[in-house]
Amino acid sequence: MVQLTEKKLPTQEILQKALDGKRITPEEAYTLYMEGDFLEMQYVAREIRNRFNKPGIASYTAFRVVNYTNYCNVECSFCSFMDEINSNQGYVLTKDQVLKKMEEAISIGAEQMFFQGGVYPEIPFDYYLDILSSVKNTFGKHIHIRGFSPVELMNMEKITGLPLEEVLTQLKQAGLDSVPGAGAEILTERMRYILSPKKATPQEWVRVMETCHKMGLKGSANIVWGSEETRWEVIEHLNLIRQLQDRTHGFLSFIPWTFQKQTKKFYVRNVPAQEYLKVLALCRIFFDNIPHIETSLMVLGQGVGQIALQSGADDISSIVIEENVLKSYGIKTEERVKQFLIESGFFPVKRDFDYNYLY
Ligand code: SF4
Repeated sequence: MVQLTEKKLPTQEILQKALDGKRITPEEAYTLYMEGDFLEMQYVAREIRNRFNKPGIASYTAFRVVNYTNYCNVECSFCSFMDEINSNQGYVLTKDQVLKKMEEAISIGAEQMFFQGGVYPEIPFDYYLDILSSVKNTFGKHIHIRGFSPVELMNMEKITGLPLEEVLTQLKQAGLDSVPGAGAEILTERMRYILSPKKATPQEWVRVMETCHKMGLKGSANIVWGSEETRWEVIEHLNLIRQLQDRTHGFLSFIPWTFQKQTKKFYVRNVPAQEYLKVLALCRIFFDNIPHIETSLMVLGQGVGQIALQSGADDISSIVIEENVLKSYGIKTEERVKQFLIESGFFPVKRDFDYNYLY
């Protein structure tokens, strides 16, 4: 087993514990966040990354984001995407518009649809079922559809009056394959109140994700930080996800994001690259039960993405073809993705949603 030094600091003892394959506690994660040496954390995170994944390989995938409506009654303080219901300035995509978007995506190699939108109770449940089944019937069952954050699924519970299990059963029968871990941000009551008091509470978010996982709808989880959260709240969030994962094993990956300044309604501090990378390494060390850590090039750029791949991440997720909520773009062509990964020191491998390597 790799030894870091002869006489260890408390943070080095924690890192050695992780290297020895033992689970670190939330308190130990907090100590690393506050006092850990980034280069030591990076080394340990890379070792752990290589136990979960093949060393020297980094993966990517391609999907089209289809935001079916921007009408939303949730009003998250950080969102620049939504239009108020009845403003007459928003949109709801028709089935034909969705199919056209997917036709374009498939023509350039994206066989996954990420279907998500605002919470608009006027849309009938049949709209979702019709679009899911139409995408599958038009383009084939192999097209993977990932859709709906917990708050959207809760809206469907409300408009149908059906239990969540029945809502999910019907969505699955229509074509839903998986769910994103979207809408989590920071799952503490205090931050929920600051960021999005009308959104699913932490308990509701967990209830919906747990039900999805138990019904075979796997997904990813994320954290978005860089506002008024404390460092302990970051750890609380990670711990909530780890505990849920212990029960369901439904998260295939975890993605650390930072808030971007998009509205004047909430405070954003610019998370320095070093802190982003430290938290990413911490996630790799903390999540002994999630196989993949993704880095998003859309948030801090390609230079930081290259270091993230050396700090615990094994996947860059892109090519994202449309992302209205974030209003920025990742790498758009497959050739450029491959070139980026090679320049980062890795052999590029395309994957499907389940992380099966395609070639
Ligand atoms: S982030 Fe999503 S749920 Fe929140 S206001 Fe925007 S569209 Fe609505």
